[in-house]
Amino acid sequence: MLQNRRPTSVVLMLVWGLTGSVQAACPALRIALDAGHSQSRPGARSASGLPEVEFNVALAEVVAAQLRTQGYTVLPVNRRDEQPTLTERTRRAAAFKADLFLSLHHDSVQPRYLLPWLTPDGHAEHYSDRFAGYSLFISTVPARAETAAASRALAMQLGSALRAAGLTPTLHHAEPIPGEGRKLLDAERGIYRFDELVVLRSATMPAVLLEAGVIVNRAEEARLRQPAYRQRIATAISTALRAYCAGMQP
Ligand SMILES: [Zn+2]
Repeated sequence: MLQNRRPTSVVLMLVWGLTGSVQAACPALRIALDAGHSQSRPGARSASGLPEVEFNVALAEVVAAQLRTQGYTVLPVNRRDEQPTLTERTRRAAAFKADLFLSLHHDSVQPRYLLPWLTPDGHAEHYSDRFAGYSLFISTVPARAETAAASRALAMQLGSALRAAGLTPTLHHAEPIPGEGRKLLDAERGIYRFDELVVLRSATMPAVLLEAGVIVNRAEEARLRQPAYRQRIATAISTALRAYCAGMQP
């Protein structure tokens, strides 16, 4: 809301005002933000033994702060201490009248690629340094079919912004092996079709799931734990939303 914007956003609004009134509506976007998994179902396990949910929550906090700074309204659809189902998360997004649904996750690989190792502090874990990079997933059969094209447009902007920020996609989800074999829609931007993902197909608004990086990869896990790297991803997301919104205007 306008009264909550910081001075930089006010300046930005003035610049937008000068460049065209249609873009002034963009910060009014309402973003439902999902930090994937929960404490009881923590998702993947990183090379150092940390649960994925901790990475998701930490990134979601940075992304939410970044988007609010830019004037967007952000609704976290899950709290750290609760375990909402996937459909409850999208139901909350609908109740919030969200324009977009963004689900944040961190990635792993198929068990065949995991190798045992001893972490620097001496406990046994598994890792794979074979794959690194982000992935974007969309469903082409969401609850309302007309949102599928918008989901793809949003994913394209996210992929472009992440590439521009120096990130690269991983293409390992397209490998024709059990558990993978996802349809790659855009290799350059790392966009896959994953129709069965409940959180995407049950969303009634454009929805994208971002796997921010591969946490079983030891070097990538270290990167993903850095606040500056999280901020780089968050900034890319806000850049993508601005471009997406501008593209949606008549
Ligand atoms: Zn996950």
